[in-house]
Amino acid sequence: MWVYRLKGTAAELDPLIPDLFDRGARGLEEREGEVWAYFPAPLDLPFGGVWEELPDEDWLSAWRRDLKPVWAGPFVVLAPWHPWEGEGIPLVIEPGMAFGTGHHETTRLALSALARHLRPGERVLDLGTGSGILAIAAAKLGGKALGVDIDETVLPQAEENARRNGAGVCFLPGSLEEALPHGPFDLLVANLFAELHRELASRYRQALAPGGRLLLTGILLEKASLVKEAMAREGFSLLEEEREGEWVLLAYGI
Ligand code: SAM
Repeated sequence: MWVYRLKGTAAELDPLIPDLFDRGARGLEEREGEVWAYFPAPLDLPFGGVWEELPDEDWLSAWRRDLKPVWAGPFVVLAPWHPWEGEGIPLVIEPGMAFGTGHHETTRLALSALARHLRPGERVLDLGTGSGILAIAAAKLGGKALGVDIDETVLPQAEENARRNGAGVCFLPGSLEEALPHGPFDLLVANLFAELHRELASRYRQALAPGGRLLLTGILLEKASLVKEAMAREGFSLLEEEREGEWVLLAYGI
């Protein structure tokens, strides 16, 4: 096993992560100011990192050992090999190629916000479901959840994660348009990015039932105003603004 070491935090290098997986990375972890991307063999990459060879066994056992359960609101996010008998609502998520292991600030912001805003029995849309983590969390809180993603390759992983958690969640390929016939929704949670929220702002209303709420994250602090302006233009009222590190979650009502 080889590791490609990049200078920077996972948040700073976030835009490169899909590219690293596309080029064959088997896993990533953050280590003291660096991101380590694991590959079966070295290859020519244009990101300015440094290659280092690791013994296979060391890599796998060290990675599994170092991956700790993550808390977010009432949830504890576990890998399938983590034993858990403590408090909290367990979410068992296989750390794989799909985004949404609970190790990113935006996923944790959305999990905590779901626990504050979701009432049992409500219909929930998870727009950009990735690993399915938010839809699974919504189901565990008593919601009826639908997860959609434009990247069809993540859906088998989301389905497998839902099965692991005994959560009844429906997953579909697509985006907001494809979800609309299955609405309206009481709660829409979307961990995307600021420019996409701005683009979708005029269509979010169509997805919501009267009294519906939106939980929008994936928004960098410096871009929050861009989303706020678009949402204010569409007549949404800001209910809550939460921050973790340089990331923001905005909750809206209609
Ligand atoms: N929901 C998970 C979480 O909070 O950890 C994953 C969020 S990840 C940052 C964003 C996901 O949205 C990716 O899986 C990506 O494929 C998907 N996505 C990006 N643009 C989208 C769009 N326009 N419609 C639906 N899904 C989209």
